[in-house]
Amino acid sequence: MMTYTQTHWNLADLFPGKDSPELEAAFDQVEEQAMAFEGVRGKLKPELDAGQFLEIVRASEATSRIISKLYAFAGLSFAADTQDQAAQSLLARMDQFAAEIQNRTLFFSLWWKELDEQNAGRLMNEAGDYRYYLEQLRLFKPHTLSEAEEKIINLKNVTGVSALITLYDSITNRYVFNLEVDGQVKELTQGELQAYRTSPDPDLRARSYQEQFRVFSKDGPILGQLYQTLVRDWHNENLSLRKFSSAISARNLANDIPDEAVNTLLEVTRKNATTFHRYFKLKAKQLGVEKLRRYDIYAPVAEAQKKYEFGAAAQMVFDAFAAFDPKFAELAQRVFDQNHLDSEIRKGKDSGAFCASVLPETTPYVLLNYQARPLDVAVMAHELGHAIHSMLAEGHSAFTFQATLPLAETASTFGEMMLTDKLLAEESDEAVRKEILFKQVDDAFATILRQVYFAIFEKQAHKLVQKNASVDEISAAYYENLKEQFGDSLELSDEFKWEWVSVPHIYHTPFYVYAYAFGQLLVLSLYQQFKAEGESFKPKYLKILSAGGSEAPAKILSEAGIDIRSAKFWQGGFDVLDKLVSALEKLESTAKQ
Ligand SMILES: [Zn+2]
Repeated sequence: MMTYTQTHWNLADLFPGKDSPELEAAFDQVEEQAMAFEGVRGKLKPELDAGQFLEIVRASEATSRIISKLYAFAGLSFAADTQDQAAQSLLARMDQFAAEIQNRTLFFSLWWKELDEQNAGRLMNEAGDYRYYLEQLRLFKPHTLSEAEEKIINLKNVTGVSALITLYDSITNRYVFNLEVDGQVKELTQGELQAYRTSPDPDLRARSYQEQFRVFSKDGPILGQLYQTLVRDWHNENLSLRKFSSAISARNLANDIPDEAVNTLLEVTRKNATTFHRYFKLKAKQLGVEKLRRYDIYAPVAEAQKKYEFGAAAQMVFDAFAAFDPKFAELAQRVFDQNHLDSEIRKGKDSGAFCASVLPETTPYVLLNYQARPLDVAVMAHELGHAIHSMLAEGHSAFTFQATLPLAETASTFGEMMLTDKLLAEESDEAVRKEILFKQVDDAFATILRQVYFAIFEKQAHKLVQKNASVDEISAAYYENLKEQFGDSLELSDEFKWEWVSVPHIYHTPFYVYAYAFGQLLVLSLYQQFKAEGESFKPKYLKILSAGGSEAPAKILSEAGIDIRSAKFWQGGFDVLDKLVSALEKLESTAKQ
């Protein structure tokens, strides 16, 4: 078996280069196809036959495939080197180009949404794998405006909402944070500053948060004003013009999740906040303090800092996947073997981690910044999980292979859990084991409780803005939200009232955050089923993954026996966490004896 080393990826499977004739030819091809597509307008009639209709859908898919490839190449080139000006301009060119093509071909989806039920049903029955894509478009029928209005919204968004979001990013990405470390004041980016939240030094953890909110609160009134404006725009467009019944409903429909399922998720999470409160009290004992401070949530509980060499880590992830199903390991390995993985650390490279699915038949591209910490191995398993999900759904069209948001984190989170199980099974060092277990609950807090409380805050903030609330009033509401979230389980200092202006998601994509909680709780339940059912669970799980985005999430899950409207289902995820916290409490009390 070969040993892998850290390298950069090869984008030649997309295009040979940024100034290759192939790239220009792709732009020309989209242009030609869009022009041909414009000729379709006259043919759109309710009695259109299924064969002709399918041809039109296929033509639209063909164009969108080229656009996906171009976007991927531009985006991945930029991620590989964010200082590369050629990549920057290619990306900007793509944005403009895609918006123009979208406006020219908009008439088709508008016609499709307007079509009567009977004819739409007739055409969908013949549409094979495109069916769900077409069905999903029609869900927006009651919320769609005229072609002229839709075009104006598209154009005005470029200089309106999108410009405001860019402005928010430009302002906050320029922030410089000062932190004294080992007697020296360092100038840090936000990412570097936040790394100190996991420092073993309690004072450093506190100062890392204090410095962040000092800087953000200085611009608090302006950042808050940007938020108020974005929220007003959301209300004007989605409630006044598009007639959604509430601010969060617009997001729920895009996710194709019923409002009642989302409400149940938020309510059940609220009820289970006490599990995390118990955990914070336990963590205080573990750290040897009377009461935990909000600053200490991500504090390490053990000194162990094990390192994992890259090749060994890759092997560990493959082994963990293979223990579930050899096919999972093979698919993960394909990402390495086809050179679709960028794992080395380079200046100018995107500092995060992601998996980019381009087309159903293309092995996804994965970006990592591998630094040999246990966290890096977990991230590797996570991103490869995404890649496997996409490869299992390769049988679907370009419109239906990608999982919708609420299901998008299924294979990634599940992959991390497979790895954790393997680590726990093989690790004999108690300190390392403890670190792994506590980290699981830390992560669950960050993806479930924290995100759900953001969503609860967003619901409230949207209402407050309608009542002309000031920025300070919104901050006060945020502080109350935190007080409910943590109860008396920890000490919450005043500066946290400014945290909300530092959360990009609530600016970029309102109500996006609950999808994290959805995904994590779903996987906790699924993993529990896997433990209980063993082999017989696998076909069910494979079916969920290979469905990709070809069905509504509720339907994909109901076939696996899951009802996302039921409080009992969501409670099942919390029961897993409750057991984990109880086990940790027991560990703590026996250690004391
Ligand atoms: Zn992910």
